[in-house]
Amino acid sequence: MEVDRDEASYGRSVTRTLFAGGVVFDGTGSAPAPADVLVEDGLILDVGTDLDADEVVDCADSTVLPGLIDSHVHVLFSGVNVLRMMQTPFSYPFYEAVHNLRTTLDIGITTVRDASGADLGVAQALRDGLIAGPRIQISISMISQTGGHGDGWQPCGAVMPLLADHPGRPPTIVDGADEMRRVVRELVRAGADVIKVATSGGVLSPRDDPRHGHFRDAEIAVLVEEATSAGLFVMAHAQAADGIKVAIRNGVRSIEHGIYLDDEAIEMMLAAGTWLVPTLSAPRAVLIMADAGVPMPAAVISKARMVLEAHDDSVSRAIDAGVKIAMGTDSGVGPHGNNLDELELMTNLGMSPLEAWHASTASAAELLGIDDELGTLEPGKRADVVVLGGSVSDLVDLGERVRAVYQDGILVAGGA
Ligand SMILES: [Zn+2]
Repeated sequence: MEVDRDEASYGRSVTRTLFAGGVVFDGTGSAPAPADVLVEDGLILDVGTDLDADEVVDCADSTVLPGLIDSHVHVLFSGVNVLRMMQTPFSYPFYEAVHNLRTTLDIGITTVRDASGADLGVAQALRDGLIAGPRIQISISMISQTGGHGDGWQPCGAVMPLLADHPGRPPTIVDGADEMRRVVRELVRAGADVIKVATSGGVLSPRDDPRHGHFRDAEIAVLVEEATSAGLFVMAHAQAADGIKVAIRNGVRSIEHGIYLDDEAIEMMLAAGTWLVPTLSAPRAVLIMADAGVPMPAAVISKARMVLEAHDDSVSRAIDAGVKIAMGTDSGVGPHGNNLDELELMTNLGMSPLEAWHASTASAAELLGIDDELGTLEPGKRADVVVLGGSVSDLVDLGERVRAVYQDGILVAGGA
């Protein structure tokens, strides 16, 4: 199928483009330095000086960065207002996703990992160029135990999941190793690029406790075994120390949120090389919604308040200890388009600005297993490039400072 996604100046394909006159943050760990970036046929050909090209992108007073990566988003969520969600037609969130994906791309995020919601239709529409947005890895639906973070059972007896099951999004409430094996296989069949599991309670689910671990070793071992045999990594929504440890012990690749990290959990992460995706934006987004009068169960609001301090304390100790960290925001719980606020939140807990950019580029690419193609500006990598006004050491109003965004060397946002 031929899809024409040209809108005015977007979508032009240029043979040889030079990003000239800027400071380059290449994601390799080198200090930012003045240099030019040469792109040919969608790939980075060279980074250096004395390069020439057919077309020059003036990057004066700007920083040239690799395409940014958000390792934890929900493109089908547009805020979590359960009353509104109950009155929203089933297919409407898919159209909202088109808007959310565009908003995310506009701030320079050229790759996302969707932490539940997006299905194969969303991924395929992006991959075919039918809609504009970041490259995407999908988890489809989060595996959860009965009474766990993904269980939509309400005290009145009604069941109101945040994401309804449908043919492309199989049910994922699981108890026991046998059911676990089948459900992972169903997710693989449905097109999952990564498997997501909740190994603890959470904030948005009114009937569970973020301090309780969910699933036992036998269940998570089977999950990781099946995912691994399908060539997939596993990400765990894990807030309780017990839930974090069951995930680490059984080979889960990343801990999402990591609210109650004790010293033993941090030691285990360092030993196993487990990643942390902090999503510092997430509990803040819940409290902002509550303050704005979005109707929410009292239990949800009190849990968001309860976890905030413990979360910051855990993440700052993890940063201090040298745990591998990738940037993720949980956008969709809060608004899409504010994703880059997460960088300043990470620096408030002890990261340097350069470390925060590294977590949003090379580290995230490594976590997602795409670092052979993305995450740095080096010869041979795909030319996902962001032109940011000003310096990388200034983290204020980042989203508004993104001047141009390229995927595979093609202008996809800004740059007019
Ligand atoms: Zn999430």
